[in-house]
Amino acid sequence: RHNSQGDANFLEDETTKNFARKVADHYSARSNQTLEEREASPIIHLKKLNNWIKSVLIQLYARRGDAVLDLACGKGGDLIKWDKAKIGYYVGIDIAEGSIKDCRTRYNGDADHHQRRKKFSFPARLICGDCYEVRLDKVLADDAPFDMCSCQFALHYSWSTEARARRALANVSALLRPGGIFIGTMPDANVIIKKLREAEGLTFGNSVYWVRFDEEFSDKKFKSSNPFGVKYTFHLEDAVDCPEWIVPFHVFKSLAEEYDFELVFAKNSHEFVHEYMKRPEFVDLMRRLGALGDGNQDQGTLSSDEWEAAYLYMSFVLRKRGQPDKN
Ligand code: SAM
Repeated sequence: RHNSQGDANFLEDETTKNFARKVADHYSARSNQTLEEREASPIIHLKKLNNWIKSVLIQLYARRGDAVLDLACGKGGDLIKWDKAKIGYYVGIDIAEGSIKDCRTRYNGDADHHQRRKKFSFPARLICGDCYEVRLDKVLADDAPFDMCSCQFALHYSWSTEARARRALANVSALLRPGGIFIGTMPDANVIIKKLREAEGLTFGNSVYWVRFDEEFSDKKFKSSNPFGVKYTFHLEDAVDCPEWIVPFHVFKSLAEEYDFELVFAKNSHEFVHEYMKRPEFVDLMRRLGALGDGNQDQGTLSSDEWEAAYLYMSFVLRKRGQPDKN
């Protein structure tokens, strides 16, 4: 038992750090797959769809010469997408040492078994660190301001405590220029909570994923409780096995407003596909990525179980308030 506020905070802090470590170790341990292994993955079409979504977001908002901050950049899977957008500078940060190492290898061009390609045309800085703990405005004082920030499939790891969720938004806000754009993809809390309420117990899923909530949420009511720290375990076949946290979107939106962001849009992945597959250039992109079916249905080449897993995610675009400098 801890009988002072100080002790309780200390313990909570330690648990939070342990979870952050668990997430980091999980991603660090995932080694690069060969092209053959990747193609044989049970979620290959979901991976392709997620790459398409990220490419569309980048193509919609990145401009030639932009300085880009990629929070939780992982192994640098988006480097090629940023190169295609002809950005001018890239800073990638990730908590997992192993992933940053792979990212450096990919950037430097050697031993990249995904494809042989020319060097990237932008300079990059790749850093290992906890984006939701560290004050990045200090670390990146010489690199700021950025025109764009991207946080793909990772912002929900900041939602373990209010302090971390705030640090994440404060970091992005401090580093973006006025009018700068923040794009991201994260689990769709509305979908996850709806599925939990429809489930018999605290677990739901299909052949490619499962979600399991802790016993403490067995009443399945989150209305009056703390919007931070709502933890579940997420398993995605051949990809993720991690503690994750619910990000209630209305709380996220109002917190983002506190840090000078306005919402441009937020869309569940199903809606995102439906909307952007109306544009020929993005249909072409989907075809090139190999995730397009006969064109009669949105789910393309995804199996029904992959398509259901895609429904667990949403993308958002936020804009930092203020007028960009004219020059
Ligand atoms: N953004 C990359 C992508 O789209 O390919 C990687 C996504 S992966 C699903 C999630 C990433 O978040 C992992 O690389 C993990 O190490 C990173 N991550 C989790 N918590 C983090 C933190 N506190 N600070 C920095 N990176 C973190």
